[in-house]
Amino acid sequence: MKSPINQWVRPNIQKITPYSTARDEFEGTAEVLLDANENSLADIFDGRYSRYPDPHQRELKRDLATLKGVQSEQIFLGNGSDEAIDLLYRVFCQPAKDGVVFFGPTYGMYKVSAAVNEVDAIEWPLDADFDIPAPQETLSLIPKNTKILIFCSPNNPTGNQLNRDRLRAYCEQFNGIVVIDEAYIDFAPGESLIPWIDQLDNLVILQTFSKAWSIAALRLGVAYSTAEIIAYLNLIKPPYNINAVTQEKAKELIETAGLVSQSADRLIELRENLIKRLQNTSGVLHIYPSKANFLLVKFDKAPALFQHLLTKGIVIRNRCKEVENGLRITVGNQAQNELLCQQIENFYTL
Ligand SMILES: *Cc1c(COP(=O)(O)O)cnc(C)c1O
Repeated sequence: MKSPINQWVRPNIQKITPYSTARDEFEGTAEVLLDANENSLADIFDGRYSRYPDPHQRELKRDLATLKGVQSEQIFLGNGSDEAIDLLYRVFCQPAKDGVVFFGPTYGMYKVSAAVNEVDAIEWPLDADFDIPAPQETLSLIPKNTKILIFCSPNNPTGNQLNRDRLRAYCEQFNGIVVIDEAYIDFAPGESLIPWIDQLDNLVILQTFSKAWSIAALRLGVAYSTAEIIAYLNLIKPPYNINAVTQEKAKELIETAGLVSQSADRLIELRENLIKRLQNTSGVLHIYPSKANFLLVKFDKAPALFQHLLTKGIVIRNRCKEVENGLRITVGNQAQNELLCQQIENFYTL
């Protein structure tokens, strides 16, 4: 067993006394709430939004805990998982001193958030199949100031899942925090590593309501970890980071989780159809295997194709800087996928 989490937490964070909200100091129901300086006239939007939301998101966490088979205390809710990434850096990395390592090409926010927090960031290269190297090849070589390792699985923009045994070995061998970003896990059903949070004391799993759960506009990201790590994230989060509408809509969605998984299943089917269609499309050099709702595809003259599609009103993601001739295509609905393939054909044949 490793030593307690406090060895990795910034000393200033360990000393913080949390802000106590009006809602913390009075719990329960009352006729007359005059404690939070809200507007009680109810003359705007019928007062529907006049009260501060639950800063602890208790009901939503309870429902999510049941759905995921964890304890409420093992859940942190963020204003998008981007907020969780930022707060993890702030709990564990001293600015201008500590660092993080992630494995790329991968999601761009890990680097941006590091820059914002003045944390050293190293992008270690994934192998030719975009999988992770064994810990023996990396752990002795990464800087001593590394506090967090970040893995993204399924990885954005490459679409593949990372080797599970190696992920486990990193969790067990790295002396620090391991973050596994599962933003796309709903497209790889049954593969989530959430059960590991009961077996390891240094693991944080990130998920999001923005992709399969289809409420990107409402901003809701989730971190699952030990109660101890989650308590630190809650300690430093802005008190009312999840607004009332988001809490309400997420609860509704959890009640109909079956619909969400049906939708994810349908997207998986559309992804497989799109792969077949692209295999017979001109200009396609390579389609990488995907466990997500997007495909990384290498095209002949990719930058020019990207521009051509833009002029036709079709926007995909240019990833040529990360992967030579690589474009990332989000799987759309049937009609969108068809339009895209037609325009790709046009570009190479006209
Ligand atoms: C989209 C994405 C996120 C961001 O999710 P939000 O919850 O919308 O902030 C996080 N990680 C990866 C890898 C993503 O692709």
